[in-house]
Amino acid sequence: MRNSHTLSILSLLVLLAGCSRYLTGNGSAVESITTEELKLHLSFLAADEFAGRDTPSPELKITSRYLATMVEGYGLQPLMPDGSWYQTISLDVTEADPAATRLIVHEGSRQQEFRFASDFGIPGRVTEAGQITGEVFFAGLGVSAPDLEWDDIGSADLEGKVVVILDPVIPEGHPLATTEGRRAIRNRSGSIMRAGAIAVLTVISEEREASHQEQGEQFTSSRYLYPTEELNSAYYARRTYSFSRAELRHATATAVLGITGSELDGMFTQVGEGEQVATSAIGGRTVEVSVGISSRVEESYNVVAMVEGSHPDLKDEYVVLSSHHDHLGIRNGQVLNGADDNGSGTVAMLEIAQALMITRPKRSTILVWHTGEERGLIGSQYFVQRCPVEVSRITAELNMDMLCRNDPDSLYVIGSNKLSSEFDAIINQVNERHVGFGLDYRYELPQ
Ligand SMILES: [Zn+2]
Repeated sequence: MRNSHTLSILSLLVLLAGCSRYLTGNGSAVESITTEELKLHLSFLAADEFAGRDTPSPELKITSRYLATMVEGYGLQPLMPDGSWYQTISLDVTEADPAATRLIVHEGSRQQEFRFASDFGIPGRVTEAGQITGEVFFAGLGVSAPDLEWDDIGSADLEGKVVVILDPVIPEGHPLATTEGRRAIRNRSGSIMRAGAIAVLTVISEEREASHQEQGEQFTSSRYLYPTEELNSAYYARRTYSFSRAELRHATATAVLGITGSELDGMFTQVGEGEQVATSAIGGRTVEVSVGISSRVEESYNVVAMVEGSHPDLKDEYVVLSSHHDHLGIRNGQVLNGADDNGSGTVAMLEIAQALMITRPKRSTILVWHTGEERGLIGSQYFVQRCPVEVSRITAELNMDMLCRNDPDSLYVIGSNKLSSEFDAIINQVNERHVGFGLDYRYELPQ
């Protein structure tokens, strides 16, 4: 399937590239930015066939190639020393290894073994091999929120325990369907681990269980990526993660808890209706989780292009425009298309590239589409630390992310006041003179 998708994407790319109407622009620079062209690019790059543009993935490489092909068509210049449009980043990819990762329920001399990633999943990053073994404590929803009159933990001793909790879809009208309730649900694994548990096993909702059953779905594992070439950045140090959290299919959960499937269904019904279920230590059994790690090296690309400045002296200064072209891939069988985040910024930069070729600014403009943003700002960190031009020659940087988030005539502005005494004033002047957007500073927060 993947091969035929790749082929059809490539043929469409050739068709688009051959369609000169989209490469030349008509009229003035501003007029060359059109809704039609934005929609054309975005409908393509956010299509299901791009599988959510995960880092690293063949689909993200095709996205990179699409961007490079377009800017080559617009007449921009490559900026990498080897004349390429691609700043290649070699990535160490670390994740749990299905062949060496398993969950075993021990009951007396009997043991039942479950497989990763079909019977259970590991939703968080894990970079270290290891093993945990402990007695089981069933903690209902795992929520400890006495203020909301919901407390599954109370005075239970969780030290050294493997804590099992339910993860139902919380319907409207449920006592926990409030902002505080949802926050308590989100934070429960952390709270349970801080109370001394060695792992939290979450039983997936009935809806997710049905989707696994119907589509033979596997759990999506969380990969950890870090550039092979270590970056010299305090902010961006390489980190290690050990196992602490798993998600269980219902058959795995019934074995761990020593109950029947209909008893588990009954508990989901009960908590779904807003009632707490009885919590307790589960005697006579222990759970062991062994995690093996696999590592490999893959490549991904920042796409880098330049519009040379029109002024003989100022063209040696640069303004950088950036956006990330990666997204989050496929989660739980669903393609996360990322049209807004950040298909919108990605295609806006294509249209801006085209416009800048019609009316060149005095300074040179570098356009960079970053990879790996969703995996921890990898592409932007790499670009700054391995910049193809002297960083001191960069006068300003404008990054675009999720342009479709708010009203069409307003923009969130973040950071323009932080590093420069002039940048924000310039942005406001230009805005007043030309487009008159509402500039919204609500995310300009120190934290
Ligand atoms: Zn984003």
